[in-house]
Amino acid sequence: MRPEGPEEPEEPEEPEEGDTRMGIVDTVVVGGGPAGLSAALYLARYNREVLVFDTGHGRSTHHQTNHNYLGFPDGVPTVDLRKLGREQLARYPRARVLGHLVTHAEGDAGQGFTVRSQGHSWRARSLVLATGVLDHFPHFAGWEPYVGRSMFWCIACDGYENRGRSILVVGHTDAAAGEAMQLHSLTDRVRLLTNSASDEISPKFRRRLAAAGIPVVHDRIAEAEGADGMLSAVVTREGRRLELDALFSIQGATPETALARQLGVRLAPTGYVAVDSEQRTSVPGVYAAGDLTALHSHQVTAAVHEGAQAASAANYFLHPPELKAD
Ligand SMILES: Cc1cc2nc3c(=O)[nH]c(=O)nc-3n(C[C@H](O)[C@H](O)[C@H](O)COP(=O)(O)OP(=O)(O)OC[C@H]3O[C@@H](n4cnc5c(N)ncnc54)[C@H](O)[C@@H]3O)c2cc1C
Repeated sequence: MRPEGPEEPEEPEEPEEGDTRMGIVDTVVVGGGPAGLSAALYLARYNREVLVFDTGHGRSTHHQTNHNYLGFPDGVPTVDLRKLGREQLARYPRARVLGHLVTHAEGDAGQGFTVRSQGHSWRARSLVLATGVLDHFPHFAGWEPYVGRSMFWCIACDGYENRGRSILVVGHTDAAAGEAMQLHSLTDRVRLLTNSASDEISPKFRRRLAAAGIPVVHDRIAEAEGADGMLSAVVTREGRRLELDALFSIQGATPETALARQLGVRLAPTGYVAVDSEQRTSVPGVYAAGDLTALHSHQVTAAVHEGAQAASAANYFLHPPELKAD
């Protein structure tokens, strides 16, 4: 694999569909965020042939700096972490990264797996799914540059830097109300904007918000004011102008489970991919790691750990029976 930039990998020559030069690789990893890169690194270090597909649109591609990932005293921009991961992986000739969208996956442990991307088919003896989630941030005009700079969702990630500041929590559920009250421990300047036609905050949480002195505004965002990624106000449809230093969006996220469902992988009642403690899914030979696997604990540390765990389990799966103790 040749060294390459974080989002625009220099791609190796691609075989045509049906071309047998590719043969079958040990593992295809779908997703090149912290989970997928960690899985690929571990697999490469097990001397496995690993192919990573990544379109670079996930949670680790916004503007945030991670201050809670060990070993970076000044924090590390998440895109830099991805770049470092790619550079680390580039040392291993049996690992390659393609900037392709995987649109289809099928197969089983007996026959092997096939993934399709951009008109090509690729075969693998095992799969690691690390496709992450899609966040439902408020989509006002020009929203994306604010993500990770002044628009957040996670207290563990960005609460500390925003202590004492004016925070607008956006969401219409008890989860949003809970976030507002937790942020209240870091600042007394918190408001909640429902940003929804309906309001699902329960009477119990309404009482708690009132007791904490957190105003609830029933209105929707029309536009935002700010510059260089720093929000200064949102203007609502009813004409309110709410000044703020930071926005915490609690509007949910959708796990990217399309490939898992094509493979027949069991999902948990939450809609996330069900895995065991070794990141095994319900389909032998298919592993899942990172934000895709649980409703909570969406953290880089967890993603890196789960990627490593998935790779170790896949490596064990790939060993011939005579090398296994069980
Ligand atoms: C604003 C913000 C701030 C955050 N701050 C922190 C923080 O301070 N500390 C912290 O620990 N965590 C933080 N997080 C959370 C952290 O970024 C995620 O937990 C982490 O990125 C999850 O890693 P992942 O590999 O599971 O998913 P992702 O990073 O989302 O990566 C998934 C990758 O899969 C690719 N992909 C998906 N589907 C396909 C497909 N079909 N074909 C090819 N590629 C595909 C995507 O393009 C993407 O690159 C933050 C998140 C956000 C949004």
